Amino acid sequence: MSMSYADLHLHTQFSDGTYSPEELVNQARRHGLAALALTDHDTVEGCARCGVACKEAGIEFIPGTELTAEQDGHELHILGYCVNTQNQELLTEVTQFQNVRQNRIREMVARLNQNRIPLEAEAVFELAKCRSPGRPHVARALVQAGLCSSLDEAFERFLKKNRPAWVPKFKISAADAIDLVHKAGGVAVLAHPGLNRCDEVIPGMVEAGLDGIECFHTKHSTATSEHYLSIADRFRLLITGGSDCHGTSKGRPLIGSVKLPLHHVRKLSERAQERNRTLGVPTTS
Ligand code: AMP
Ligand code: FE
Ligand code: FE
Ligand code: ZN
Repeated sequence: MSMSYADLHLHTQFSDGTYSPEELVNQARRHGLAALALTDHDTVEGCARCGVACKEAGIEFIPGTELTAEQDGHELHILGYCVNTQNQELLTEVTQFQNVRQNRIREMVARLNQNRIPLEAEAVFELAKCRSPGRPHVARALVQAGLCSSLDEAFERFLKKNRPAWVPKFKISAADAIDLVHKAGGVAVLAHPGLNRCDEVIPGMVEAGLDGIECFHTKHSTATSEHYLSIADRFRLLITGGSDCHGTSKGRPLIGSVKLPLHHVRKLSERAQERNRTLGVPTTS
């Protein structure tokens, strides 16, 4: 292989993706990826299995998560890379996220019921089979029960912002998310800034310790990627990228469609090692 690449933004069925960790790693192997990071929403549950599957496939594994955060009214996603998935503070916080997510499902179902849509919360949990369920699971349950004809219809009629069954999501502050990732020995990266249009909050996040920025993403145009590369340069931020693949739910799986050169992964790992040295945590591996 002439060049080695990584995909550092991937979801499995431990949040709103459709692949199991093993299927994800199998796809990564098919695409010739040398490294991957699992970044399920508000959980690290899939990391253990994904790590085992990567080891068997000879792929470098970076344990991660994508935390739901906000700053100045913007919803932001903070990617935590190289986190210690056994860290107690991280586990306590993701458990809190997951409890709120499960209650949000119940609330969304109650609102559907008020709109005479006879869905049961248990049907959503049975289908989701994960601790970190979200709107896509409600949409799939609606389709499965024959109450909507497509996922798009479910979102358009009920689940989109300000539609009848929409319930706001629990978020922590961007600064708290960054702190949490750091305490777990990880590296904090702002996900897909081009989707959130939040450039004005970046300096504050850098102040709060942000380590990096996701310059390459499926939904970033070349111009958008270049824009964030210049911001990375200006604020001396690490550069990351990934496909944000959710599996087969939205047409062709995206895994491998964003190819991050491996030297960026080296810098990410180095930052995590420095952080663990200052935390006094012995490094494994
Ligand atoms: P949640 O985290 O529960 O608010 O759900 C967010 C997820 O819903 C993301 O993965 C989005 O890709 C997905 N989503 C948002 N809008 C739509 C839509 N119109 N159709 C399909 N999926 C959507
Ligand atoms: Fe998602
Ligand atoms: Fe995201
Ligand atoms: Zn994502």
